[in-house]
Amino acid sequence: MADESALEARLRQLPSVYRLLQTPEAQGWVETFGHELTTEAIREALDEARDRVLAGEETPSAASVLASAQARLERLVAPTLRRAINATGVIIHTNLGRAPLSRAAREAMELAARGYTNLEYDLAAGVRGSRYVHAVGLLKRLTGAEDALVVNNNAGAVLLALSTLAAGREVIISRGQLVEIGGGFRIPDVMRQSGARLVEVGTTNRTTLKDYAAAISDETALLLRVHTSNFRIIGFTHQPSLAELVELGRSHSLLIMDDLGSGTLLDTAQYGLAHEPTVQESVAAGADVVTFSGDKLMGGPQAGYIVGRRELIARMRTHPLTRALRVDKVAIAGIEATLRHYLLNEATREIPVWRMIATPAEALRKRARAWARRLRAAGVDATVVEGQSTVGGGSLPGETLPSWLLALAVPSPDGFARALRMGKPAIVPRIEEDRVLFDPRTVLPDEDEALVKGILAAWSAA
Ligand SMILES: *Cc1c(COP(=O)(O)O)cnc(C)c1O
Repeated sequence: MADESALEARLRQLPSVYRLLQTPEAQGWVETFGHELTTEAIREALDEARDRVLAGEETPSAASVLASAQARLERLVAPTLRRAINATGVIIHTNLGRAPLSRAAREAMELAARGYTNLEYDLAAGVRGSRYVHAVGLLKRLTGAEDALVVNNNAGAVLLALSTLAAGREVIISRGQLVEIGGGFRIPDVMRQSGARLVEVGTTNRTTLKDYAAAISDETALLLRVHTSNFRIIGFTHQPSLAELVELGRSHSLLIMDDLGSGTLLDTAQYGLAHEPTVQESVAAGADVVTFSGDKLMGGPQAGYIVGRRELIARMRTHPLTRALRVDKVAIAGIEATLRHYLLNEATREIPVWRMIATPAEALRKRARAWARRLRAAGVDATVVEGQSTVGGGSLPGETLPSWLLALAVPSPDGFARALRMGKPAIVPRIEEDRVLFDPRTVLPDEDEALVKGILAAWSAA
């Protein structure tokens, strides 16, 4: 009994909601968050305090209840999408938002977001226009295709193209090209959603032109090639070239579609990487439709590009799915600005993804050394080691770019990495052989200061 009344006494020591609401702190929150949210946060903080007393703890002070209420209010408005510094060395990191955008793209997007635009308005005629005219001229010129259509993302582009061209009919695809992209999504599943029936031919490692030819029937609508962008089969392998597929398709009046996945306009081989097939090559080889992503090697906003023959693109443009997959005005602004960089031959200077690919290892060594110098001056055990960056984003699997990395030897690499990730901005390093590594290739030039500060904060906390 005595215990119970002692407990009650301790519960009675807790301030009331009303009293806490009258404090100057709470009155300040009311101005920012309003009466209702503030009261709710205080009530929840008091509930938590009561639970702790019931669990046998001392009565929390009014100040600590207020601190808990404040933390609740701040969590309420904190964005879940936060800035992150990518120190992993994976250039197109899908989990970290793929391509950072060029300055021109960001400025164009800001402009489109701020006010009204002629998104679907013909300024010369003063009548309704189409959102699908934007970026088309640039895409035609850059790829050599007759026409182009931009949708929300490449999975959408594939879905729309197959829905328009092959619903209810057969699409022949090699077993070696049934790709699963990130997040458990399988391209064949997306394709089936179009209503097309996939006819799989060949084996995992070898598919011949004869395999395709043998599968052609009255039901066949098109031959589909999917670039195996995120894996590589080596050894005893064969896939017919796109040109061979085009020839076979033409002789049977079938369409040829090429899903390039990443899609690049520049030759990756000039940077010591394997040659990733370019969009221009697919168009020149005679593909009727080519689909590719906007935010992988293109280095622009999330988008799906479809380029190809005029009458096919025209049919896609009026398909009901186009409305469901439509591209946003802010994205269109960034897309045009990004494509313009290619037209003006300034892609490797202006588009971050290409600038990262093109940066020589020696420049990265200098940056890593500058970070290490600053960290060592503050007592951090930092060294610079040789390492590798990757392109990522489901492109150029197994291909690496030489780099120099900042390496930290810490007692608990996982704990240290977590502290970095929870910082503001978040810093995402990689861990190898119990060392925490930071690759300057993917850290943007203006992030040096924040990176060093973040590492110092995590170091002093550890
Ligand atoms: C990445 C990829 C896709 C999907 O592109 P998103 O723009 O992510 O929708 C489709 N096909 C291939 C081969 C890919 O690599």
